[in-house]
Amino acid sequence: MGAFNAYMALSGAFDADVAQDELLSHHTTYRIGGPADLLVTVHSYPALLKTIELLDREGVDWVILGRGSNILASDSGYRGCVIKLGREFSRISFGEEGLVSAGAGALLSKLVNETLSRSLSGIECCVGIPGTVGGAISMDAGTRHDWIGPRVDNVVTLRPGEGLHRYEGSDVDWGYRYTSLPTNEIILEATLRLEPDDKKRIADRMNHLVSRRRLRQPVGKPSCGSVFKNPPDQSVGQLIESCGLKSYAVGGAMVSDKHANFIVNTGGATAADVVSVIRHVHDCVLERHGVDLACEVKLLGFDA
Ligand SMILES: Cc1cc2nc3c(=O)[nH]c(=O)nc-3n(C[C@H](O)[C@H](O)[C@H](O)COP(=O)(O)OP(=O)(O)OC[C@H]3O[C@@H](n4cnc5c(N)ncnc54)[C@H](O)[C@@H]3O)c2cc1C
Repeated sequence: MGAFNAYMALSGAFDADVAQDELLSHHTTYRIGGPADLLVTVHSYPALLKTIELLDREGVDWVILGRGSNILASDSGYRGCVIKLGREFSRISFGEEGLVSAGAGALLSKLVNETLSRSLSGIECCVGIPGTVGGAISMDAGTRHDWIGPRVDNVVTLRPGEGLHRYEGSDVDWGYRYTSLPTNEIILEATLRLEPDDKKRIADRMNHLVSRRRLRQPVGKPSCGSVFKNPPDQSVGQLIESCGLKSYAVGGAMVSDKHANFIVNTGGATAADVVSVIRHVHDCVLERHGVDLACEVKLLGFDA
């Protein structure tokens, strides 16, 4: 009853779009995932507060989703409410001395393009990464050797049950796909400190990364990007390739023949197919190389 009561209370009442039994395949770049009991896109901070208050009162679990570009959602979906950050969270504004503030719901690609157009350098490593600013901060997105975190001046989060919290970027640990920000807090806005540079030099750096991506990755095929994290000083793609696993497939899920750390949805893949491929790849690499690969992709709706 909790999710239904929450649906009734949330629908039409305020600045949010509320859907019941919404397929997560429509909200993930994998195009995989069964229905979430509720999916609420909140367009303002008061709407977010009200949504969380109501869900907590009804005992409904919830989770924050960005663009779903690093998510494998289960075939049975999610028993709870998926919250997405809408309009008011999509703003990007430029201040003095290279400061730029972006709402967590803003597209990372928009932020990257706007910084380029203002000749500001620092987040070239994020070019071509699909997703939102909130997702990028949460994942510390970037390349293998450079990521967005060190450019963060401050992050504002909502600490459920308490309220707004501000972290100075320098007080947060940032690493390769790692941040020390608490996972139970909702990132609302991040302010970055960028450096002025020559626009052509910034564009050249971005173009170089985009070309590499086009050359090495299965661009255009539904995926979640890299499935596993690179172990220190090793390339996970090479480890998987050396096990002869390129093109290994279960159902519609296949290890990309272009980049072995991508498992692509060749059409009609289920989450169970992807999980089977992940398990097989993990076990083969462990057996052959003794390396226990850790997943970069986040699972949604699977039993713990
Ligand atoms: C083709 C492709 C290429 C990719 N290339 C790269 C790459 O080069 N480098 C890289 O780092 N990643 C890459 N990725 C992975 C993915 O795009 C990034 O991890 C991205 O930052 C995720 O953003 P998102 O908005 O889609 O987050 P989601 O996938 O929706 O969520 C990811 C995690 O962040 C959490 N989250 C999202 N928003 C918030 C918020 N506001 N507050 C708190 N938590 C939040 C979610 O709960 C979840 O745990 C790639 C993915 C694809 C499909």
